[in-house]
Amino acid sequence: MGCRIMTDMLQPLTGERRELEQRELLCEMLRLFYDKGWVSGTGGGLCARLDDGRLLVAPTGVHKERVQPDDLFLVEPVEGTIVRPPALQSLRPSECTPIFRAVIRARGAGSVVHSHALSAVLAADLADEGALLIHGLEMLKGVRGAASADAHLVPVIVNTPRESELVEQVEAALADPRFEATGAILVSDHGAYIWGIDVWEAKRHTEVYHFLFEAVKARRA
Ligand SMILES: [Zn+2]
Repeated sequence: MGCRIMTDMLQPLTGERRELEQRELLCEMLRLFYDKGWVSGTGGGLCARLDDGRLLVAPTGVHKERVQPDDLFLVEPVEGTIVRPPALQSLRPSECTPIFRAVIRARGAGSVVHSHALSAVLAADLADEGALLIHGLEMLKGVRGAASADAHLVPVIVNTPRESELVEQVEAALADPRFEATGAILVSDHGAYIWGIDVWEAKRHTEVYHFLFEAVKARRA
């Protein structure tokens, strides 16, 4: 028995077991982010890409800290159609799904987080020509490919009445060479989208960027 457990641990998870692991991990992330005030008031969301390209997406309009693994939607990435809805029929997939798909297409992200943090809203107020400049902060090296001495530009786009209407601006920001190094997009009066190559890098970037947003805001106060 002991040998079998060891063998199981050494083999990479595939198929259903991998999906279950990712479902549990996303729920854990939602609880962590809720405690930080980043997905409170039923706002915010997140997704993860499975090995076959399909996406696990959190439901919208629900208390994020109480989302269960079975509450996540399985979504086809190209058209965004729902492959498998949760058993609970009252749930709706995140309104951010088209934005998640745009970030995955443009940046090859494996996981995208949508934050409604106050620090993101206040940092977006400091935008100059559609960008927030972050520099002189050691924490910058927590962003993949960035160094603490960099002048790091995060795009700031304008909020729209419906979340799905942000897609065009998100795509333009992702295609803008000024923002090649960014792992985040700020949305004025609203929050931020932050991504990584997998759930763990998205978590790191989410923590790093929220620190940076708070630092920039505090310094300019
Ligand atoms: Zn939102």
